Order: sequence, then C-alpha cells, then structure tokens
Amino acid sequence: MSDVDALVAQLERDNEALLDFLYLCPLAIAQLDGAGAVEMMNPAGARIFMTLSAEPEIANLFDVLAPFAPTLRASVDGLTATAGTICENQRIEVGRRAPGEALPLVLTLTLIKLNSAKIMAVAADVSRSAAQERAAQATETRFRAVLDGVRDYAIFAVDLAGRVETWNKSAERLFGYAAAEVLGRDHAMLIARSHEPRERSAALLRGATAQGWAEDEGWWGRKESTRFWGNCVLSVAEDADGRPVGYTHIVRDLTRRKRNEDALRSLAHTDALTGATNRRGFDEALAAEFRRRSAEGEPFSLVMLDADHFKRVNDQHGHPGGDAVLIALAHACRDQLRECDLFARVGGEEFALLLPATDRAGARAAAERVRIAVESLRVAHGAETIRFTVSLGVAQVDAAGGTPEGLIALADGALYEAKRRGRNRVVLAAAPDL
Ligand code: GH3
Ligand code: MG
Ligand code: MG
Repeated sequence: MSDVDALVAQLERDNEALLDFLYLCPLAIAQLDGAGAVEMMNPAGARIFMTLSAEPEIANLFDVLAPFAPTLRASVDGLTATAGTICENQRIEVGRRAPGEALPLVLTLTLIKLNSAKIMAVAADVSRSAAQERAAQATETRFRAVLDGVRDYAIFAVDLAGRVETWNKSAERLFGYAAAEVLGRDHAMLIARSHEPRERSAALLRGATAQGWAEDEGWWGRKESTRFWGNCVLSVAEDADGRPVGYTHIVRDLTRRKRNEDALRSLAHTDALTGATNRRGFDEALAAEFRRRSAEGEPFSLVMLDADHFKRVNDQHGHPGGDAVLIALAHACRDQLRECDLFARVGGEEFALLLPATDRAGARAAAERVRIAVESLRVAHGAETIRFTVSLGVAQVDAAGGTPEGLIALADGALYEAKRRGRNRVVLAAAPDL
C-alpha cells in the first residue's frame, strides 16, 4: 500500500468514526448555511429540532426557532466577523409540544459561525435538569413559606461561635427582633437575662458539638423584655464534606403548655376549702427551703398553728359553721404574711407558716400578729357570729442543720406547750443548739 492509500484509509476511518459519533451523539448537531438553511443534521438534531417544527421537514433552523427565540436572528446578524460564537448555551424554553408530554421542553443552543457561509448549531435537551432545577426552586420557595408561616416556632442558624446567621419571619415574630438587630450577634441575647444566658447557650453548643444535637427547656427573652417558656432543639449544620459549619436552632414557644402545667401544679398543691397550700405543697416547699438554707446558710422559721377548741365550734355551729371559720382563718393569716411566706393547711384545723429569711424573733412577731388578727375576727355564719382563737408554736431551723421532720416536731412541741398553757398564745421552741 502506498503512502497515499494509507492516508486515504486513515481519513476514511476518521470520517466513519466522526459519522458514528454524529449518529450516536445525544446532542443535536446541524450544519447551516449563513442564513440558517439546514445542510446536514444528525439523528438527535432531527429528533429535537423536529419537535419545534409544524412542518414534516426543517428547511431553515432560524425560522423554526424564531417563535421561541425571537432575538436569535438579530444575534446572527450582529456577529459581523467572518467567524466566531453567535451564542453559547442560550436557553430556549419551548414548553409542552404535545398534550401527553410529561416535561416542558427546554433546550440550550450554541451557534458557531465557521465562515460567512457555514454555521454549526449544537443543541441539548435540558428539560429534565430544568425540571429538577424548577422542582428545587419550588421546594425552596415552599420551605421558606413554611418556615415563615410557622407560629410558635422560630428557626434560625448560628455559626460555630454562636453568632446568629439567619433570621426569618417566624423568628422575628417569636422574639420581636428584626433581622438587622440580631444578625451577627451572640444567640445568648435571646435567652432571658435572668436565666444564665451565657451558661445556657454555651451548654447548648457544647452538647450539640458532642452528640450532634442538644435540647433544652427554659425561659427565652423577647425584645420587649417579656419572656416565654420555650423548648430548643439545636443541631449541628454541616457542609457538603460533613464538616460542622454552625448550628440550627428550633425554638418552640411552650408558654401555653407551661401555663397549663403551672395551673395544674398549683391545683395539685392547693387546698380546696381554704385556698391555702396543701400538705404535699408544704412538704415540697419545706424540703426546698432546707436545700436553700444549706446552700446559702440563711435562717428560716416554721410556725405551726392549731384552732382552739374547734370541736366546740363544730358542735355549736355545725360543720358548715366550722368550714366558714377555717376560710376566715386562712384569709386572716394570709393578710398578716409576706408574699414570700408559705401558708399551708397541714391538717383539719392545723396550719403551717413557713417564713423564709426569718429568725425566731421575727417568726414570733409574725405569729403574734396572726394570733391577734384571729382573736379579733367576727365570722358571720347565718344569723350567728362566731369568734375563735388559735395557738401557735414557733421554731427556727437550728444552726447545726437538722431535718424537716425535726423542725416540724420542734414547732409541734411548742404548739403543744401553747395549748397546755391555756391556748390563744404563741410559744417559742427552745433553740436546740443553745
Ligand atoms: P384543741 O384546742 O386542743 O385543738 O381542741 P380541738 O377541739 O381543736 O381538738 P382537735 O384538734 O382534736 O379537733 C379538731 C377538730 O376539727 C376535729 C374535726 O372534726 C374538726 N375538723 C377537722 N377538719 C375539719 C373541716 O374541714 N371542717 C370542719 N368544720 N371541721 C373540721
Ligand atoms: Mg384544735
Ligand atoms: Mg387539731
């Protein structure tokens, strides 16, 4: 074989390979003359461009594309150089061509001018990716609408240092801050000032870093200095490579639930007849006072009160008369006490006064006030007026420690002594540590 024959054979193989490529290529490829008349087109070109044409044959590609790309001809005429790119990946929204088609047709078109008489057209069907893009956009829009629309929730992101990075309508609504007031600032500003903002926000970030998420329930602060009881779920936000880039907060306003719980709680701790705290509430409060005392070392006192000759009241005025007395007694006691004092009904006609930050002298004075107030009470019951008295025993928590039961026994002992000495009086328990 001569060199020329070998060259021709090589060219034929190249040409076949090129034809194979043109034949199998999923891109639409067409060769046009300078005015857009089709000189050559591969099968994908026929398939894709044919869907645009009402005619069974495509004579001129610019005519076929004109309805979907009105500026195309101007772009062609605009390129005055003999060669160059007329357009590159120009998006052409064709839309649905047939009623049964699932996806609206979207093409990207590249036109390259090879010389004044030859233009190559390459087009790709990007309907599927366009649909995916649109779906992603729609999801994003819907997601934003959901985020902005949620009530009782705030969803926002912070960076690794806890600085607020995103702030949407739901967050604005819950916290009252506009985006400009929050973005870039430490998320601790969102925790109620009186509830250890720094410690709590740091603990949340620490927990999330350690286990991927963290949860907390507590008071959050609003811009207008009000607060709400909220649950916070914090999760680590990662980049595409799985590296943590920040945290996402979901804060939910639980005020309503908390209010209901508080109401239930106070119901569960309230005596129905007198409205005083019941025995259970008293036990809990006393235990709490003991804990606080061991933490802060502050003295507090307990006064036990028992109505005198109450059987007689019942005997003379009936049980309803006795009840009326108990109600009046509770009112009179409450009147003499501070807001921080606890007044509890611990038995039928027995009450306890728990006086925080009060030593025995202060407690005796309070007990005496109560005794006098009760002594001067006139309880109207039907046509009758009932008068009665109470005895009180006072004990201060002992300096060395002790137990709730020990303190109750001490005050009860003093009360017993008051009864023994003739009732309608206050007796102070001997300080056990003296
Ligand atoms: P003392 O001065 O020694 O305390 O005499 P007392 O009569 O008060 O004696 P005691 O404490 O033993 O009696 C309490 C009485 O209180 C007995 C009970 O019938 C009555 N009582 C207990 N709970 C209620 C109540 O809810 N309503 C009424 N009306 N009476 C009650
Ligand atoms: Mg009694
Ligand atoms: Mg009694």
